[in-house]
This record gives sequence, structure tokens and C-alpha cells, in this order.
Amino acid sequence: MNAFLAALRERLGEAGLLAGGDLSAHEQDWRKRYPGRALAVARPASTDEVAAVLELCHAHRVPVVPQGGNTGLVGASTPDDSGRQLVLSLTRMKRIRGIDVANASLTAEAGCVLADVQAAAAEAGLLFPLSLAAEGSCTLGGNLATNAGGTQVLRYGNARELCLGLEVVTATGEVWQGLSGLRKDNTGYDLRDLFIGSEGTLGVITAATMKLYPQPRERLTALAACASLDDAVALLGLARERAGDALTGFEVMNRASLALVARELPQLHQPLGAAGWTVLLELSDAESAEHARDLFEGLLEAAVERGCVQDAAIAQNLQQAKTFWHLREAIPLAQAQAGLNIKHDISLPVSAIPGFVAEMDALLTAYLPGIEVIDFGHLGDGNLHYNVQAPAGVAPGEFLAAHEAAINGKVYDAVCRLGGSISAEHGIGRLKREELAMRKDPVALGLMRAIKKALDPQGLMNPERML
Ligand SMILES: Cc1cc2nc3c(=O)[nH]c(=O)nc-3n(C[C@H](O)[C@H](O)[C@H](O)COP(=O)(O)OP(=O)(O)OC[C@H]3O[C@@H](n4cnc5c(N)ncnc54)[C@H](O)[C@@H]3O)c2cc1C
Repeated sequence: MNAFLAALRERLGEAGLLAGGDLSAHEQDWRKRYPGRALAVARPASTDEVAAVLELCHAHRVPVVPQGGNTGLVGASTPDDSGRQLVLSLTRMKRIRGIDVANASLTAEAGCVLADVQAAAAEAGLLFPLSLAAEGSCTLGGNLATNAGGTQVLRYGNARELCLGLEVVTATGEVWQGLSGLRKDNTGYDLRDLFIGSEGTLGVITAATMKLYPQPRERLTALAACASLDDAVALLGLARERAGDALTGFEVMNRASLALVARELPQLHQPLGAAGWTVLLELSDAESAEHARDLFEGLLEAAVERGCVQDAAIAQNLQQAKTFWHLREAIPLAQAQAGLNIKHDISLPVSAIPGFVAEMDALLTAYLPGIEVIDFGHLGDGNLHYNVQAPAGVAPGEFLAAHEAAINGKVYDAVCRLGGSISAEHGIGRLKREELAMRKDPVALGLMRAIKKALDPQGLMNPERML
């Protein structure tokens, strides 16, 4: 190990290697579920340096954990507690390499913080639509490695759909130069799609070319109170029918989610009274502010007439729109503040969601009275964060130890029976590795293992994550 670290230091310089000292920011995952210990943290500043790190890891058989902003929620971006795994942090690679306005594309390095990518696109008069609550810390490389979703998937798709090309360093230290702004390229297997969503288990993404879109003329946000999830689904249908592609956000929050925010973050203003389900809608209009407002008012009036909305508020200005979004984005923060909970990031056909929630709420309440379900998410994408919190007075740690396996079993059995997925957007990591092995189609698992072996023959890339 000493020879390995000395070679790394020589190649990366003092700024490029953290060894000894306090490495805790790189060793602890965001949810604080997987405390780890790193051999060291490599901080390469260029693609060539990443290649040198992986070449050395390959030669010395050192396992590598790629890391971006370390906001991942499945325990895939931090080392285990062996003290043998090298963290490879991309955060020094944060250059926007270029923007091609005519091609509506942007090329940026993997360590660019998502909010900085959005800002660079905006400066060029264009929109980079990927958006999630962690956007001030998560990185473009992490977004692609997890195929992140977020709040704009309904209109623009997830990270995979926004990506045109990648630059990747392979497990043996070769550089695959696949940065392309092409929208059509049928020249064999799609390597780009292989690395997207691979959670650092196949190689290291060092840069990407991403799609940009026109900036909407106006963006309007509203909150709507619905009595039931069936009503929220009816509102989604109506919003799609009336607004078409202009509907860019459709988020739901159950009563318990907003009550938790009120408890943990009382400074946040909640404009509507408590409702069974509160929906956050966003319209992005290409025409004008008046057109957007007319569309929104017409939609909400029709929804009230049909009886699927009880009350609604349209944000009057940008600040108010931010406040509305902040409520939705504050839910994970309020949950983190309240302590550990059992998280499920699931997707289902939208039509199956109300039935799933009714069945599961009843099943879990019968299983453990007092249990609290914090249920929120991207209803427009069929993606729910169905999180289960300990009954009042029960310590979260004890609750997880005693009930996590049983509750996961109940939730995932129902999800699979209804044709859903056990991971909609957060990935597999360490958190869902066993579930994946049990529930994924065996042929698909066999193919995934074959790909892993072909691309990472020594099994050094993020070992024991996902597979
Ligand atoms: C408050 C909060 C809200 C969130 N909301 C959402 C949401 O709405 N939608 C959503 O999808 N996710 C969400 N997440 C999860 C998380 O932010 C995303 O998964 C994000 O894409 C991770 O980016 P990161 O740079 O932090 O990656 P990290 O956490 O550092 O890494 C995540 C995974 O990617 C790998 N990786 C990182 N960089 C690279 C690279 N350059 N090459 C290869 N592999 C790499 C890591 O090894 C790990 O497996 C949220 C997280 C938080 C804390």
C-alpha cells in the first residue's frame, strides 16, 4: 500500500491526494447509514490523471469508489470499513468545456455541480432541465452514474435521456472518447447507456455532452389541495389534456409529509390548509406570461368543477414559486432531521398508485399501529418516495433494526406484483443489493454480471455495490 500511495502522490501531487488526516466528509454517506474508512482520497484534476489513478489501482489491485457530491441515497459513494478502498473524488474536475448553442448542447466535466451546469446553460440563453433538491452539491458525473430523475422528468426525461455523449476512463485506465453532440448514431452497442446508471461499477465518467432546451418564456407554479390520491391522478390527466408538453412538474405530498415539515421546519410557510394530498404543479410556457396564467387558471377552475381539487393557489411571483417548491424539497431534509426511516423509492404505473397506497397504508398500520407513512414524490412519473417513520416514542435505530426487513418485504412484494420497480431513481448501491438479487429477472442479472466481468475483470470498480 505504501508503494501504491507513493506512486499516486507522485502522479497527482500534494493537492491530488488526501491520505491520513480527517477524511470523514468522503467516508460518511448522506443518510449516515454506512460509516466507512478510506485508504485515501484521490482528487485528480484531469482525465489523464483519472486514467493514471485507475491504471495504478489495476496494477496494485486496489478497489476504487468513485465519488461526486456524495449525495447518493443508497450507500454507493462511500468506502466500506476495511480501510482498503480508495475514494476517487471527481470534485476538482469542474470545467464547462463548451456550449454549442446551434446544436443545443453543453459539454462539462463530471465534477461540475449540477446548479453550475444549469447556470452555464442559462448564461447562454438555454435551459438544462435536470433539477433535484441536491442540485447545490450533486455533480453531473454522479447524476449520470445514478441516472438521476428529479422534478422535470415528466417533460424532459431523466439524466439518461438528456445525455448525448460520454468520456469514460475504464477499469484498466484506458480513456473512451465518446463525447458526441450527435442525436443519431447507430454504430453498434450503445456504450453510453451502459455507463449511465452503472453507479461507478464499470468505469469512471470524466465528462459528458448534455442536451439543452429553449428557456420557457414563463414558468408558473401552483399548489392544489386534493381530498384523495384518486383525485390527484384525475388532476394529472386533466393537466396533461389541457397543458400537454407545457406541464413540467407534477409532485404530490401526503398530509403526513407536510405535517412533518411543519414540525421540523416551522419557519416554512404553508399556503394551503391541511389536505389529504397536496399537489405541486408547474407549467412552462413558450408563449407568454398571460398565456401561461390563462392556461393555469382555466385548468384549476375545471379541476374544481370536476371536484378533484378543493382549493388552489397560483404563485404570484418568482419568490412565491420558490417557496412552493421549497416545501416539496424540504421533505427529505425534514425526514433527515427527524432521524432514520425506512425509505422506498418505487415506481408503478400511475393507474396502480392509489390502490397500492391504500393497500400498503392499511397493511402497515395493521402490522405496527402508530407507524407514520411519509409519502411524496413525482406522481407524473409514477415515482413515489414511500417512506416509513417509527411510531412516536420509538427510537428510529431500534425501529429499523426490528422492522426494516419485514416492511421492505411487504412493500416490494406489492410493488413487484403490480408491475413496478424497487428503485425508480436512487439506484441500488448497498441498500438494495440483496433485493435486486432476489427480485430482478434472472436472465437480466446474468447479463449484468457478464458485462461487469468483461469491463472490470478484477472486480475493483465499486465492489459489492449493485451486484
Ligand atoms: C436532499 C436530496 C434530494 C435528492 N433528490 C433526488 C431526486 O429528486 N432524484 C434523484 O434521482 N436523486 C435524488 N437524490 C439522490 C442524489 O442526489 C442523486 O443520486 C445524485 O445524482 C448523486 O450525485 P452525486 O454527485 O452526489 O453522486 P455521489 O453520491 O457522489 O455518487 C453516487 C453514485 O455515483 C457514482 N459516481 C459518482 N460520480 C461518478 C463518476 N464521475 N463516474 C462514475 N461513477 C460515479 C458513485 O460511485 C455512486 O455509486 C437526492 C439526494 C438528496 C440528498
